[in-house]
Amino acid sequence: MNSNLDAADTAMQLRTVLHRRFRSDTGTEFVYVATSAAILGLDPLASSIVDAFAAPGGTAAATWLATHPEPADAETALHDLIDLGVIRPVGEAEAPRAQLPPMPFPISTPVLNVTNKCNLSCTYCYEYGADRLTSGTGSAGTGKARMSDDTARASIDFLLRSCGDRPQVSITFFGGETLLNFPAIRAATEYAEQRGREYRKRVHYSLTTNATLLTDEVIDFLTTHRFGITVSIDGDRGQQDRHRTYRSGEGSFDVIEPQIRRLLAANKQKQGRAIGARVTLTSGAAPVRATYDFLTKELGFDEVGFAPVTAGLGRTYALGEQGYERLLREFGELAEDYVAAAVRGESHGFANLGDLLRELHQGINKAHPCGAGLGLLGVSTEGDLGLCHRFVESKDHGLGNVATGLDQGLRSAFLQRAHVDSKTDCTQCFARPLCAGGCYHEAHVRYGDATHANLHYCEWIRGFVDLGLRTYARIVTANPRFLGRFDTP
Ligand code: SF4
Ligand code: SF4
Repeated sequence: MNSNLDAADTAMQLRTVLHRRFRSDTGTEFVYVATSAAILGLDPLASSIVDAFAAPGGTAAATWLATHPEPADAETALHDLIDLGVIRPVGEAEAPRAQLPPMPFPISTPVLNVTNKCNLSCTYCYEYGADRLTSGTGSAGTGKARMSDDTARASIDFLLRSCGDRPQVSITFFGGETLLNFPAIRAATEYAEQRGREYRKRVHYSLTTNATLLTDEVIDFLTTHRFGITVSIDGDRGQQDRHRTYRSGEGSFDVIEPQIRRLLAANKQKQGRAIGARVTLTSGAAPVRATYDFLTKELGFDEVGFAPVTAGLGRTYALGEQGYERLLREFGELAEDYVAAAVRGESHGFANLGDLLRELHQGINKAHPCGAGLGLLGVSTEGDLGLCHRFVESKDHGLGNVATGLDQGLRSAFLQRAHVDSKTDCTQCFARPLCAGGCYHEAHVRYGDATHANLHYCEWIRGFVDLGLRTYARIVTANPRFLGRFDTP
């Protein structure tokens, strides 16, 4: 529709598209437009128009304008909202989206499972616990326990052959406990440095570890190569030792604490990248704010991300409905601290909220929930390719091998099935641009189908996105300059 309402347009029934209203502390109104992922400020007139055209059957523009005390202003404001895609003719089909980006989509981030062994025996582990995808009899599945140096190097060659024109690539190391195979990490990193120079690619490295094996040699290597490091830790001694134990049942906190302190000190000294803690949230966990404060103020982590545990039905550690409600409340409490810091122009390390604000600020509108199968691929200890690190030993989700290449047909077929437009449950959800149906692994564990929408946590996702929107409104009205840090990806 063009921006001037002609006679036919004014007779037309118009209505708002899928959206979410929210406001700042000072009462400034905003709308999140789910079809475009845009955030728009609304003045009182625009706000009243969004209300007036919200009825499912639509409203005739001419009828509404005829009753308005300032019809000329109202018509201009209505035109603006039509042009911005907030109001559209009833029954107008959404512009079709590309099913897939141009293929073969370049790889940016292989996740190398350098080992499928772990020296801990965490109750809730998807790798070793009841919800793992593999059924083999080995340490954690059917693959070799450790990736060889040759396979690690072959993974780098595969990346450099498959990354297209990307100027930078990232290599992520994962496990099991990643540092059980430090030689493969070293081999891959040194090889990537050399080959990256030949290919003129900038290579970044990251790794997730349980911190039990952080020797001085390892710390020196990781900080020298500016690794992005994530430590899996659930909080203070009491929290950590609830689930994160050795096979003997002994807790791991006393082992990891001094090593984490040495890692953080060395990283600070070398002005390395931010080091994050990743907390798995289970039923009965300590309050989020207390855990955040402990990990940042007592231990010195730069940021903390919280992840509700992935669990099949009936697991005692799973977060039930009440657990998610509590979590949302506690995320709200930590968001207060985030806003206070943002108003002062200071960073805050609540990673979940920071990531969400970045996506909102950049207008991210996802067709797929994450990069798995797109830029990101998992690589098993034997070099087999999977959607991501959680799928690498699942025969049903295999996508090829680093030596023989990626099966583009299987990859495209999966991504087509997993596209958010194929998830009919998600069509009327305002959180769709950010969630897109949620994690494939979570869906596989819950529904036996990685392309299923994660309907068991919709309320949680919508609640969290809503919290993000309200937080965005508070920051953009109190200190908009703070959001400049989210301008670049
Ligand atoms: S899974 Fe649920 S929250 Fe996510 S987009 Fe679909 S309906 Fe929305
Ligand atoms: S499928 Fe899930 S675990 Fe794998 S990369 Fe995506 S969000 Fe992460």
